[in-house]
Amino acid sequence: MNDPSSEFDLIRWFRARSPKTSPQTLLGIGDDCAILRPNPGRDWVVTTDMLMDGRHFNLATDSPQAVGYKAMAVNLSDIAAMAARPLAALVAVAIPLSARNSVEIGQGLHQGLQEAAHPFGVTLIGGDTNAWHGPLVISVTLLGETTDRGPVLRSGARVGDIIFVTGPLGGSLLGRHLRPEPRVLEALALHAAAPIHALIDISDGLASDLSHILEESGNLGALLDPLAIPIHSDTVTRSGPPGKTRLHHALNDGEDFELCLVVSPNDAVLLENNPPPPARLFRVGEIIASPGLWLQNPKGPPTPLQPAGFDHLKG
Ligand code: ADP
Ligand code: MG
Repeated sequence: MNDPSSEFDLIRWFRARSPKTSPQTLLGIGDDCAILRPNPGRDWVVTTDMLMDGRHFNLATDSPQAVGYKAMAVNLSDIAAMAARPLAALVAVAIPLSARNSVEIGQGLHQGLQEAAHPFGVTLIGGDTNAWHGPLVISVTLLGETTDRGPVLRSGARVGDIIFVTGPLGGSLLGRHLRPEPRVLEALALHAAAPIHALIDISDGLASDLSHILEESGNLGALLDPLAIPIHSDTVTRSGPPGKTRLHHALNDGEDFELCLVVSPNDAVLLENNPPPPARLFRVGEIIASPGLWLQNPKGPPTPLQPAGFDHLKG
């Protein structure tokens, strides 16, 4: 920052509002490094995600709190997607000097970060504060630990397994995308109830994200029931070319942050009969040997489905 006293004041302000909430955090904000102590027998999972003004949000209309909330929530969603327990976060920010008061932006970001982190007992253990004559950029790095059942990877799906999602899909970009609800408790409850074979959070659309599970699991396929895919009420039908159906939105819109999970057929029945709270489960299809995505078709053979989800390098 131009004015070093305000950088250090801001960091002091962050520090006073970032109480240590996990026993693994021996030292948080204030020194050159934070210190963590792993629980014996547990593995750490770690993830990072960056949000940029003009790409993931728009600071002209979105509040710094909303941006901070989303920055933490998308990382929580990745920890959920390993069925791990989130523990501690690091936050790096590049604050614009041009826009509003940069200290206020930093404070707003922090409030949003804590709002998302607090329900899960995540401690903010450090970060980096910069300012420049460029747009706001915020990057969160989140650490978590595995449970007794271990982490869930994308690679464990098997032919015959059942595919579920944890909530209705589509239309998030119409407004909901800044307020994702990371399915951390859902993932932990589901994995405790039955071993999940493969798991991913739906950030780029079900079709795209499920394809990652299929590829990582050895080039498998998925047969989806179009009538079983839960479609969010935010999804609107747009008529006329190039009209997209509500199903298209549910399959391809990004930023839903629901989970897609794959379990054995026996465990699928067990989970459906007794969904462990707070998880909701929607059975959407099954894993098949024929590679790629297929949509069931009552009038004939299954039709192939091409993912049309978002790709940052294609824009
Ligand atoms: P250093 O110069 O050693 O990198 P800094 O002055 O950048 O130290 O940071 C001082 C302390 O404040 C460190 O513990 C750092 O992790 C923490 N910190 C800096 N910026 C943030 C932030 N945006 N959020 C949380 N902690 C921060
Ligand atoms: Mg230092």
